[in-house]
Amino acid sequence: MLVVEDEGRMARLVKRALEEEGHAVDIAPNGTDGVWLATENAYGAIVLDVMLPDLDGFEACRRLRAKDVWAPVIMLTARDSVGDRVRGLDAGADDYLVKPFSLLELAARLRALARRGDPPRPVLLAEGDLKLDPAARRAWRAGTELRLSPKEFALLELFLRHPGNVLTRSAIIEAVWDFAYDGDSNIVDQYVNYLRRKIDAPFGRHDIETVRGMGYRLRPAAEGR
Ligand code: CA
Repeated sequence: MLVVEDEGRMARLVKRALEEEGHAVDIAPNGTDGVWLATENAYGAIVLDVMLPDLDGFEACRRLRAKDVWAPVIMLTARDSVGDRVRGLDAGADDYLVKPFSLLELAARLRALARRGDPPRPVLLAEGDLKLDPAARRAWRAGTELRLSPKEFALLELFLRHPGNVLTRSAIIEAVWDFAYDGDSNIVDQYVNYLRRKIDAPFGRHDIETVRGMGYRLRPAAEGR
């Protein structure tokens, strides 16, 4: 595991707690070193503080994902604001904890991420001209590769696994943010809009439909465009 945190005392506390759980733990004192270590080593998970002396945690997480580092990331945020949560998730984090947090809770969250494990390699998903490779984490519309954040990707994957079905906000949160997410369900509306801007708007489509009072639905290709 990698702990990216500049405050020495906090970093050592987290390191000791994770070592008691049987993990080997490296500490990076800033974002640049954290990104470098994580690209050089295959960590089981990364604990990433938002407040760092150089890059902030959001930028560090974006750089990791851009470098194809897909280890689970838990962000440590200083305050419990929806803005920080959304920024963290949008930057590609898998989970977050608000300081001060209990070390037991951090260990439990890391176990939950580890249990999620590597998904079985699925086949290519397709609906009309939308295509998605879950294993390679790539997606295309009409042959154009889509640049999606990890959460946008997970959301598109969910729609492609259930074309034509109405997905409620709670079902989407459970699938994309996992059942432990207890934040605001507006996050679903925000992410559906992000996704529409990437997969629909540039192609003159309106395939992600709002089903009033229920949720969202990917219009199947068979219904015509
Ligand atoms: Ca810090």
